[in-house]
Amino acid sequence: MKSLSEKVSGIPPSATIEISNAAKKMAAEGVDVVSLSIGEPDFDTPTHIKDACIEALRRGETHYAPSTGIPALTGAIAEKITRENGFSARQGEVIVTCGAKDAIYEAMEAVLNPGDEVIVLDPSWVSYEPCARLSGARARHHALSPATFQVDDTLLEAVGTRTKMIVVNSPSNPSGAVLNGDSIRLIADICRDHDLFALSDEIYEKLVYGKEHVSLASLPGMAERTITVNGFSKAYAMTGWRVGYAVAPRPIVRQMEKVQQHTISHPTTFAMFGALAALRGSQDCVESMRREFERRRDYFVPALRDLGYATAPADGAFYAYVMVEGDDMAIARSWLREAHVAVTPGTAFGTPGWLRLSYATSMESLREAVGRIARI
Ligand code: PLP
Repeated sequence: MKSLSEKVSGIPPSATIEISNAAKKMAAEGVDVVSLSIGEPDFDTPTHIKDACIEALRRGETHYAPSTGIPALTGAIAEKITRENGFSARQGEVIVTCGAKDAIYEAMEAVLNPGDEVIVLDPSWVSYEPCARLSGARARHHALSPATFQVDDTLLEAVGTRTKMIVVNSPSNPSGAVLNGDSIRLIADICRDHDLFALSDEIYEKLVYGKEHVSLASLPGMAERTITVNGFSKAYAMTGWRVGYAVAPRPIVRQMEKVQQHTISHPTTFAMFGALAALRGSQDCVESMRREFERRRDYFVPALRDLGYATAPADGAFYAYVMVEGDDMAIARSWLREAHVAVTPGTAFGTPGWLRLSYATSMESLREAVGRIARI
């Protein structure tokens, strides 16, 4: 066999896989594992969304759709952005994708050239660097201060002559931090001063606790250089539906559309009707899930602090990011082996010495986890 793609071979497997595979194996053998490594809401998709999808399926919405998505949905997304996110979007500036992840991949393919650099703020979600590398670009990692997880002017040191894009993720997976106004302004200033694109991953925008989510594209001069990525997975408990979207200047959307046309064509037609119902229907379901996550956070994060662990701010998303002394991979392995608690090592997010504990699980499981961690 001839050698396989160097580009793909060069991408390391995710550091999360070893622990999550081991946890799954133990669970399959009958061990009572408390899994805090989950990155998805534990709620069912709200009924009105499922019903809209089923109706669409029955109606015969089972054929190809326009490659940027069904017009009713691109229109509803443009309206949602204009209404909620502080900048105005037209329908032609929207593309519906197979989840936010696909939007990130397509955006990088659409904008980057081999040799370009993308600044990634660590701790960072696991797929930004691989997506950059698949497009031939390189990631340059910039560590956020572990005291605040906000951006300061040291970010400027990461900007070089090859820098083309900054990836921003607020609220953050894994830290749970929500970037404040100063951080967002600083990023915007740097993007404008150095003519950079920004990819703003706002997938957790609805999951904030006492903080305000600010869209990067709402700052002056930013809509014209920002690709805003969002989706339905986290806010509406729709991870398996694979519907997300990007809002960007028309030339970028046109490029993304070409990538989409030659790869996935578009997300599943009837799934898009479910997503449309999610946006058009009552938003009470979003708020009630948010409140439940907040209730769990209010128990879990202080309980971890009471056990002596320093944690990141936990102002958004559904993760507690916990500092540990020593090798986080080894610690995650030993928590699984000795306490049967599965967590994700910070190494997976570019920050060794931390563990990510998801609280997208029942209160009962969280209480059990705290008891087990206390006994370690
Ligand atoms: N961005 C972040 C920060 C995420 O945590 C995730 C999922 O875990 C995604 C994007 C991908 O979301 P989707 O399910 O819409 O592809």
